[in-house]
Amino acid sequence: MIVNPKVRGFICTTAHPEGCQSNVISQINYVKAQPAISQGPKNALIIGASTGYGLASRIVTGFGAKANTLGIFFEKESNGKRTATAGWYNSSSFEQEAQKYGLLAKSLNGDAFSDSIKQQTIDIIKKDLEGKIDLVVYSLASPRRQHPKNEQLFNSTLKPIGKTYTNKTVNVMDGIISKIEIEPANDKEINETIEVMGGEDWQFWIDALLAANVLADGCKTVAYSYIGPELTYPIYRHGTIGKAKEHLETTAKNLNEKLSPLKGNAYISINKGLVTQSSSAIPVVPLYISILYKVMKKHDIHEGCIEQIYRLFAQLYSQEKLALDKSGRIRIDDLEMRSDVQEEVQQIWNKVSSENLAELTDIKGYKDDFYGLFGFNMPNIDYSKDVNIDVKIPSLVD
Ligand code: NAD
Repeated sequence: MIVNPKVRGFICTTAHPEGCQSNVISQINYVKAQPAISQGPKNALIIGASTGYGLASRIVTGFGAKANTLGIFFEKESNGKRTATAGWYNSSSFEQEAQKYGLLAKSLNGDAFSDSIKQQTIDIIKKDLEGKIDLVVYSLASPRRQHPKNEQLFNSTLKPIGKTYTNKTVNVMDGIISKIEIEPANDKEINETIEVMGGEDWQFWIDALLAANVLADGCKTVAYSYIGPELTYPIYRHGTIGKAKEHLETTAKNLNEKLSPLKGNAYISINKGLVTQSSSAIPVVPLYISILYKVMKKHDIHEGCIEQIYRLFAQLYSQEKLALDKSGRIRIDDLEMRSDVQEEVQQIWNKVSSENLAELTDIKGYKDDFYGLFGFNMPNIDYSKDVNIDVKIPSLVD
């Protein structure tokens, strides 16, 4: 089949298997070119392992630290007519490359919020991962969650709290900047967003793994969060998603106590704002990211998911004392939040319009990254060629 991008709103409904493979291989090559993470994890569980920050975490722990990895994700396989999702192709490529490199890689495709996936994970750890894991990465981003105890369905929303938020936003596809007005969330929407993107499920994971005695001594767990600049506070940090992130960050403190008998630790890493399937759904943020890319590339300090996560794990497993902020969080958003970077971003923000978008921002870089998420716009792929879309994930066939 010849596969072309089909963009609907902020999502692409097709994915190119060879483009996704090329994407995974280039991330692997980046990690292989860095110094090895010699004291790194041996057996890592990555929850949300198929795209974005979770995929980068799987690649860094596998190819940077030679860890066995178990990746959990929720992706769609091809039915022969429709392509699989990008995360499916990414996971297939990851496993194939891991096999060539002599790394054990297992995957589970299903709802990470469910008790059943947690139990299947534990079974695989006992059978294939030496019975214990020493790292749990929590990198889920989901619009909904079915609660495993009462089966209630919760939806997350991206809204301000308290008052209407008005700002500029860009339609990435046509480059038109318009004013957006977002009504504040009600209490139900705030609470449901906390249910979906807060820390309860992370805690359920650690509880289940502890109860099954599959966490090794000294086990680390890390979840990802975001702060960003003041200009996005109303929609992000002070909005519904920010409340969920506060809950996630508080959960880290509880998990630290639960892990203390194992001398284990729970961390929050505040990561940089980047183009991923999840971040492209947030209003206002794509325009901010396009400007941020422009400024960070100009200063030669731009990073993608793989550079960010390599830096995170290099710190986490270094012999040196881990640098944390006042709230106990790891800050790999340090370059994004540099005051000179943020001042320049704000100046461009004040001036940007549909007419000067291409000149003042890196909207091209944003779009390239967006298409890249789905395996398109890769320089080395011939998109006019037929490609097999029915690709298997080796460990899901066994
Ligand atoms: P993403 O959309 O690229 O990845 C989400 C992952 O979660 C995928 O592997 C997907 O399959 C998996 N997933 C979703 N629902 C699932 C379910 N029910 N069961 C199993 N797997 C499921 O997202 P991302 O941007 O990499 O986000 C990962 C984390 O990083 C989130 O917590 C996000 O808030 C955080 N973060 C993102 C940014 C950013 O700019 N993208 C910045 C800082 C922090």
